[in-house]
Amino acid sequence: MSNYNWCHGPNCHTTHTQSRVRGSKGNKVLRTIKIKPNRYGNYQSGIWNHFCNQRCLMDYIQTHIQSIVAIAPRREALETKIKDPVKDNTRYYNQWTIEERT
Ligand SMILES: [Zn+2]
Repeated sequence: MSNYNWCHGPNCHTTHTQSRVRGSKGNKVLRTIKIKPNRYGNYQSGIWNHFCNQRCLMDYIQTHIQSIVAIAPRREALETKIKDPVKDNTRYYNQWTIEERT
């Protein structure tokens, strides 16, 4: 089992950074970033174990959005039951208090 992942960003290997340069003199390439799993601890490791940065994540979503939404399609709106909202005039922002109803 490998102890790293390659960034899944479709354009990762085209970004001009020193960290992507590999190869011998006269035969250099820009290579996809290698990712060490759990590099941020457990912080969103499901995402950041597969993408080197947010640009690569968004490029991947943009490229594969139709396949991604097909995994778990949303065919109707979801709803959360709430109590009747109450206005609180003592606050300037967020004057409406919304509580979930169980
Ligand atoms: Zn990347």
